[in-house]
Amino acid sequence: MTSHRGDYWNPKNETLSREDLQALQLIKLRRLCEWAYAKSPFHRRRWERAGFHPDRLKSLADIERIPFMTREEWMEGQLEAPPFGSLPAVDPVLAVRYHTTSGTTGRTPLRVLDSTKDWEWIAEMWCYGLWAFGLRQHDVVLFAFSYGTFIGFWGAHYACEKIGCLVLPTGAATSEARVKAVMDMGVTTVCSTPTYALRMCQAAAEMGIDLAGSNVNKIIVSGEPAGSVPTIKRQLESSWGAKVGDNAGMTEIGTIMIFECSRQPGGTHIIEDNFIEETIEHDGDRPVPYGERAERVVTSFGRGFIPLIRYRTKDLVVKVPYTECGCGRTGDLYMGGIQGRWDDMKLVRGTNVYPLAVESIVRECSAVDEFQILLTRDGLQDEITVRIELKPGREDHWDTLHRRLCKDLPDAHEGLRFNVARAEHNSLPRFELKAKRLVDKRPVAEYR
Ligand SMILES: [Zn+2]
Repeated sequence: MTSHRGDYWNPKNETLSREDLQALQLIKLRRLCEWAYAKSPFHRRRWERAGFHPDRLKSLADIERIPFMTREEWMEGQLEAPPFGSLPAVDPVLAVRYHTTSGTTGRTPLRVLDSTKDWEWIAEMWCYGLWAFGLRQHDVVLFAFSYGTFIGFWGAHYACEKIGCLVLPTGAATSEARVKAVMDMGVTTVCSTPTYALRMCQAAAEMGIDLAGSNVNKIIVSGEPAGSVPTIKRQLESSWGAKVGDNAGMTEIGTIMIFECSRQPGGTHIIEDNFIEETIEHDGDRPVPYGERAERVVTSFGRGFIPLIRYRTKDLVVKVPYTECGCGRTGDLYMGGIQGRWDDMKLVRGTNVYPLAVESIVRECSAVDEFQILLTRDGLQDEITVRIELKPGREDHWDTLHRRLCKDLPDAHEGLRFNVARAEHNSLPRFELKAKRLVDKRPVAEYR
């Protein structure tokens, strides 16, 4: 049923010339803005205040006339008119599903609603990505995912059904039960966060099972910005004996906007016929050119309930032209996927520290089981300590690892001194979703 597609899920749109692609984006942008202006009180009010009207969109560059939209404004709108606020462009009674952002503890989450049509689109976006990484009808796909209000892999589940794969949902199963299902059911593909894919390897090792000997040949990761970090990807690929494909999305858009194709070019293609992804300076509003660190700003065409237009994501990305990958897709790429979040960045004794950059160095050593980055303040001085748990039986790697980290971590951080400490086996927290490996115990007053 899907053989006519060849290498691309949507052969026409994924290979459009840049000129045709941009013409399509302009048509969709106008239609989206007219819809939002007419139907979403949130957008209409903000745009009238800013003097913007959809009639002013004559070229794609005119997108810069539209004011940015932030999470904070969305939340304000939601608190003014609970529970769903002023953003939805459709009467909530017509929704068929409710999800929330994962949110941090104690903070009200953003609430999203979707229609049946929205869900068709959500699955369609995942199809672009899963098909590009080689998923086909004969695949048996295990979802190591909790199926809760967090949107995570919900869309991927429906996409697999649409492609015709056999889907194994493992909602509340333990890691051991999931490993067993992988072995017993001939699973070929596992969908999970990068952290949890590593966790399953730990569980398998404790059970005396080598996952590299299973039928799994593809791991689809999402939910954390680690799936494109080369050291983490290599470790997952060797432990599982499978290729690891990175994908990223967000609850605010309901699905993925970037995916890695089977060529694994070290980055993720943007689904540009369904999204406009702008790269903007994170502390300003000017566009940032190819190859430089930027904040991604997303406009999403597919979701009727929640029109997301120039939404500031705080995701850190580096955009490069589509020519960096030879697969024939004309969607540009984010090198290294989502490289982190601008608000994850920590300032330690005047040096910027990104948790993901630390992780990529720590994960170079396969003897590392789990780790944590601890920030403390001793008097006036900030201290950064990396605590490491080694895999059972690999304890003799400690001296070499300690020596290497005491050199490599400062080398990557302008000479900043890191303390490297050993942690007892199973003493550090384990995560299934959204790992929080950085603990900042410094008093709240930050340097100004
Ligand atoms: Zn490609």
